[in-house]
Amino acid sequence: MMFDTTRVGGGGETLPERDILDGFDQLIAADRLFGAELNSSVIKKSGKGTPFLVRRHPPHHRMLGIWGDIFANRVSPQGLLAALAPEVHGLAHGGGLLLFGKDRVLYDCDIVRGNEGVGHLTLSFYREREPVFRFLPFPRRPGRRIVYIEGISLSAQSTGYASSLFRHYERLFHGLGFHRFRLKASLSVGKYYWAKEGFDCEDRKQFGEMREHLQDLVRRLGLPVEEQEVRRLNHASMVATFRRDLTIPVYRNADGYYATARDASHTEEFRFPLGKAFLLCSDPWDGYKVIYTDTPRRTGFVWSERFLDHGTPPDHPESPKRLEALFAAIREEGMRESLIFLEPYIPAMASLRAVHDPAYLEAFRDAAARGDRHFAVRDCAISEGSYETALLAAGGVMAGIDAVFSDRADNVFCAVRPPGHHAGRASAMGFCFLNNVAAGARYARSAYGIVRVYILDWDVHHGNGTQSLFDEDPLTFFCSLHEHPSFCYPGTGRRLEKGTGFGRGATLNIPLAPHAGDREMIEAFEREVVPSIEEFRPELILISAGFDAHRDDSIAGLECTEEAYVHMTRRVLELADRHCEGRVVSVLEGGYRTESLVSSAIAHIKTLQGREGSPCSSARG
Ligand SMILES: [Zn+2]
Repeated sequence: MMFDTTRVGGGGETLPERDILDGFDQLIAADRLFGAELNSSVIKKSGKGTPFLVRRHPPHHRMLGIWGDIFANRVSPQGLLAALAPEVHGLAHGGGLLLFGKDRVLYDCDIVRGNEGVGHLTLSFYREREPVFRFLPFPRRPGRRIVYIEGISLSAQSTGYASSLFRHYERLFHGLGFHRFRLKASLSVGKYYWAKEGFDCEDRKQFGEMREHLQDLVRRLGLPVEEQEVRRLNHASMVATFRRDLTIPVYRNADGYYATARDASHTEEFRFPLGKAFLLCSDPWDGYKVIYTDTPRRTGFVWSERFLDHGTPPDHPESPKRLEALFAAIREEGMRESLIFLEPYIPAMASLRAVHDPAYLEAFRDAAARGDRHFAVRDCAISEGSYETALLAAGGVMAGIDAVFSDRADNVFCAVRPPGHHAGRASAMGFCFLNNVAAGARYARSAYGIVRVYILDWDVHHGNGTQSLFDEDPLTFFCSLHEHPSFCYPGTGRRLEKGTGFGRGATLNIPLAPHAGDREMIEAFEREVVPSIEEFRPELILISAGFDAHRDDSIAGLECTEEAYVHMTRRVLELADRHCEGRVVSVLEGGYRTESLVSSAIAHIKTLQGREGSPCSSARG
């Protein structure tokens, strides 16, 4: 099934073609509309020569086709010219032109203060073409709408101008249904500024190189920075603010370029914080900023193919196929553009030791390295890659937490494996090795200084590992909805387990009788979970999101459907809005029948995105 997810969502009004055509004619008469040579090396501004190979405009029907494809006729040509040229910080646009290339529209203008030219700006608007089948170059369908800043230069020191202009543009392009706002980072307005504004590298490879160079610099200067700290950076804005406590010397040349070493031209010395200095001294990168057009909330999605490296025997329920199927569905449902993909990282060992015994971690590492077929108990099957994958799963939750606290995302779903909620301080069981959610809760506290974390576990099995880790902790509330322990693995999670010592009252177990379904689940949720969240007033909500309470999942005896998951998700978001600025990080636990796992997780993720009436395609299961 294919959907055109790049269609402009509802709300945008469409102008009649007549108006668009009239607009073309008026601009042609005013010498403000031309054709342009598509050769990109010609289009790019260079030096003081003619910026474009300006041509006669293409025929009207061609221009109309391009306009509809890129702007969906939501704006007239004059309307666009006017909207692109706001006056901010005393600067305006002069001589703005629209140019039609073969498949794109260009906007070119001078930036002026009064009558004096102080800079240039060139934007291009186009639509990516995506192959319909991944392995074939043809046929192609229209993909994301892109705004590309071909070039901006300002002779005056006015980063405040670019900042205001681009904030204006973001709203404008968002309204016009664009997906990406890309630019070639340019020194004339400051890379550090781009990073602060949220522009990121074009791809992970580029970012990997950036991290390597930063690591080299750290090594060269002998700075007290752990490799882990660098590895966890996954956005240019994180680099920009990295280790503000450490300043390093940088050297500026006469043109305003910086280098980390003094040479014949770079002579003027400054000291900047490490991250800022690094950005100023590295090559400009091709950055982008995604503008999310089709969901009310920005939802992060932690995913890596490396989660498939934890191998289990063919008949084992916790198989890599679970995630393969989920990711295939994400792709098929056209959700890739609306999710913010987040890369998991290998966490610092210190943050894992906050949850697990060091000797236990070593034993697990050694068992995987030795090629053992299982660890600790028979159901915990392992392969050579299991230890690293488990580290990455815990680090995936941390990446999700980083995203909600750095405002890259409103909430996050972590599509990780192996699962974690049965793992205790020094015990692996129930397919779990490291307690991902627990490690995340501890990390959120130490890294972001919050105090109260609420963990909601709706996996059909009791989250005994998580409970044991926070049993005496009054500041981490653990709530579990599960099938009654008399009938279901692991045999714990009775009502009388309420926490111990200072933690008494911060554990809430809600066992459900076998065959309980949506109605019972939702009733229990409203009756007990909602008031407990209200009373606890968390600063972060973590969900241990297993989907094995589904009626089609034969691993246990509850009979829920997607409806229960959608309901609980929606309510958790409402409560999170009230108490913790919407910060919810949801972490995959169980769910062993592929069809119901996939349809439930998709319904859950769509609800996290704030989509109304998130479809529950339970018919598929
Ligand atoms: Zn489970």
